[in-house]
Amino acid sequence: MDINQDNVMEKIVALSKRRGFVFPGSEIYGGLANSYEYGPAGAELKRNIQEEWWRVFIRERSDMVGLDSSIILHPKVWEASGHVSGFSDAMVECKKCHTRTRADHLIENDMEAKGESMSVEGKKEAELDAIIAEHKIACPVCGAFNWTPVRKFNLLFETHVGIVPEAQSKVYLRGETAQGIFVAFKNIIDSTRVRLPFGVGQMGKSFRNEITKGNFIFRTLEFEQAEIEYFFDPEATDWKELFEGWKAAMHGFATRNLGIEASHLRWREHGDEERSFYSKRTEDLEYLFPFGFKELWGLAYRTDYDLNQHAKFSGVDLSYTAPATGRKFMPHVIEPAVGINRLMAMVMLEAYREEGDRTYLKLPPRLAPYKAAIFPLLANKPQLLELALKVHDDLQKHFPVAWDDRGNIGKRYYAQDEIGTPFCITVDFDTLGEADGKSNPDHKGTVTVRDRDTGTQERIAIENLASFLHGKIYR
Ligand code: ATP
Repeated sequence: MDINQDNVMEKIVALSKRRGFVFPGSEIYGGLANSYEYGPAGAELKRNIQEEWWRVFIRERSDMVGLDSSIILHPKVWEASGHVSGFSDAMVECKKCHTRTRADHLIENDMEAKGESMSVEGKKEAELDAIIAEHKIACPVCGAFNWTPVRKFNLLFETHVGIVPEAQSKVYLRGETAQGIFVAFKNIIDSTRVRLPFGVGQMGKSFRNEITKGNFIFRTLEFEQAEIEYFFDPEATDWKELFEGWKAAMHGFATRNLGIEASHLRWREHGDEERSFYSKRTEDLEYLFPFGFKELWGLAYRTDYDLNQHAKFSGVDLSYTAPATGRKFMPHVIEPAVGINRLMAMVMLEAYREEGDRTYLKLPPRLAPYKAAIFPLLANKPQLLELALKVHDDLQKHFPVAWDDRGNIGKRYYAQDEIGTPFCITVDFDTLGEADGKSNPDHKGTVTVRDRDTGTQERIAIENLASFLHGKIYR
């Protein structure tokens, strides 16, 4: 992507709808703010990013195990974690048009528009009121300068367990996946052979009552989070070294596995005001979105805060006993936390290319929704159709593949380019090898394979197609 290109975000939003990546949420009912649906191509792309994360961070590491805990946990979990009392954003409401907006975003966007910058992380409600008043920041929707005082609102979604009102009890949809890992910590060490240092990773839906304008799938009410708690003995492991190791792993995943240019990424360390009181260091890996460098992936050294809190609130001993010495202690953790949907937005923006009259998504082949698309040259020739269908059905056993027999070949290429399909395979008259004097006898049993990135075509024997594609996609 050319980061300076005009309207690249709008182009991605339009392409997403046109090609079945992402649709606005509940669209036939007029939409629901900050919610989206992932269409056929988007569901594949998101799943591929999830699988890549799971493969790299769980399956291919002997110091990691996976977990799949509940979305609805005991309500005390969120009291222990501090979410019930502290997981909140500061909000203001315009008294004229009733637009609600996050106070920090209102101030930061206003400053940015004036070419200045200000971070208001960690500021109290009264301080935010004072900044809004001092800079006379108007409502971005109606232009009025008539705000309610800043007030905090909690991001946790509440719901109830129990079918009769008298017997209902309040629970929360999880605001992050990480707490499930601490809750399961004892069961994991009791049921597996893990030894410190080791990590537990899990991926799944988290929910946050976000009121802010979403910037497409960057910030949504529900999102797929992928979090790791990496447990270690602070007396045996140097946390600074570990922290640097995780920084390298996260950066490497973004550049190598997701195909992101290193110059589009940067690290930003949280200052004292922004960092949680229990964290010794927090850094965000940021990506250069069209609306500026923004958090992609957080990395925090959370000490033994969470395990201590859950031990205190549950009354259960969550300490670890070192097998060699018998020493009992509370492990410390480093937490890399990312949203898969945010990764997907980044991957699509990064892959977007406009070259002459071509638009295509240069997705890493492993991530592409379909690895190949199969076309019969003409849809109304039964022999072509039959053979092309056979090629399609055989390849489908190996990879997700697409089929298209509408319009002309040029239009089909155009559609697959926008989906990011790395290879288009055409079954033509040469493939049939009819002795009509027109087809090239050397090409009998071969198909044309067109490369998405170069546009070049080569002929490959049908029986070699699967191994040819495999070599190109999973190299
Ligand atoms: P932000 O400051 O952007 O709200 P955060 O610091 O609250 O994010 P964390 O609690 O550290 O985020 O969550 C870890 C990761 O989860 C983030 O880096 C981001 O990738 C993702 N994430 C958080 N909130 C959302 C959301 N509402 N929609 C999509 N992804 C999200």
